[in-house]
Amino acid sequence: MLRSVILAAARSPQVARLVETAPVSRGVVRRFVAGPATEDALAVTRERAAGGLRVTLDYLGEDTLNAEQAMHTKDEYLTLLARLNAAGLTPQAEVSVKLTALGQMFDEKLAESNAREICTAAAAAGTTVTLDMEDHTTTDATLETLARLRADFPTTGAVLQAYLRRTEADCRELAVAGQRVRLCKGAYKEPEAVAFQSKIDVDKSYVRCMNILMSGAGYPMLATHDPRLIAIGEDRAKWFDREPGDFEFQMLYGIRPEEQARLAALGYSVRVYVPYGDQWYGYLMRRLAERPANLAFFARSVATKK
Ligand SMILES: Cc1cc2nc3c(=O)[nH]c(=O)nc-3n(C[C@H](O)[C@H](O)[C@H](O)COP(=O)(O)OP(=O)(O)OC[C@H]3O[C@@H](n4cnc5c(N)ncnc54)[C@H](O)[C@@H]3O)c2cc1C
Repeated sequence: MLRSVILAAARSPQVARLVETAPVSRGVVRRFVAGPATEDALAVTRERAAGGLRVTLDYLGEDTLNAEQAMHTKDEYLTLLARLNAAGLTPQAEVSVKLTALGQMFDEKLAESNAREICTAAAAAGTTVTLDMEDHTTTDATLETLARLRADFPTTGAVLQAYLRRTEADCRELAVAGQRVRLCKGAYKEPEAVAFQSKIDVDKSYVRCMNILMSGAGYPMLATHDPRLIAIGEDRAKWFDREPGDFEFQMLYGIRPEEQARLAALGYSVRVYVPYGDQWYGYLMRRLAERPANLAFFARSVATKK
């Protein structure tokens, strides 16, 4: 309920202006976002790599409405990949890309050609790309783009959202050799016709999808902070004889860092999703919507003007 209210309010331009301009927002943002610049992304990558973690870097931005902005986002990814390569960090780092940040909302061909350039740069740097999944109106287009990119860049990763009713079927399609699939619960406000609404139904769907991916031939990336689902993931790894290099856990920057370290210390591959850049509004609102405690943290910061 609270989640729906926050996600709905997040689409109001007035709320956006209020949050974006409030001086306190910056402090809260730094809990979930590495910083505004490429250098911030590199610094967090170095630090996480030293702690035995991997990262996937997301240059923040979504719902891009003009070609200039889409090209700017693409160029930033090219710069980032070149700098990761020069710093010798590509064994530990890949990038996550939102097709709407590359122009998908107004020109699907442009978005795909931008994504292709990023995949080419990633391959040259010795790493790869995962296509983030956005709201359900983009799912088909994103999976179609993924299939075309995979023909030339087979390691390009997909994201599937357990809250969508279609996702079990999508997992079956994508549980094939070489396919990297990140399984997450899903972060957008979706109608009942396409998505499970209650936590228990979403969690059950997550387990069904995890079973398909972990027993399949692909490379599952279990993206969740949920202790119960992480325990089930560990169990399925044993059950399906998956070594640490055959799948990975993923979590978001700033969320449950002790758990990230604990899993890495046990020998699991753990990747942290690290967003950076100054277009943080949509990302921050989804994190606030996920957890009342995150909202309380925001409210406390406002009250104490930190
Ligand atoms: C690596 C990664 C990539 C993602 N990519 C996408 C994407 O492409 N598209 C998309 O729609 N969504 C994406 N998401 C977001 C995802 O869909 C969920 O919205 C988000 O991960 C919250 O779901 P959860 O599985 O952590 O479970 P929740 O139901 O939110 O949380 C379950 C439990 O986890 C624990 N927990 C959660 N947050 C905290 C916290 N801050 N501190 C302590 N404990 C906590 C609590 O015990 C909580 O009860 C991604 C998530 C991750 C981790």
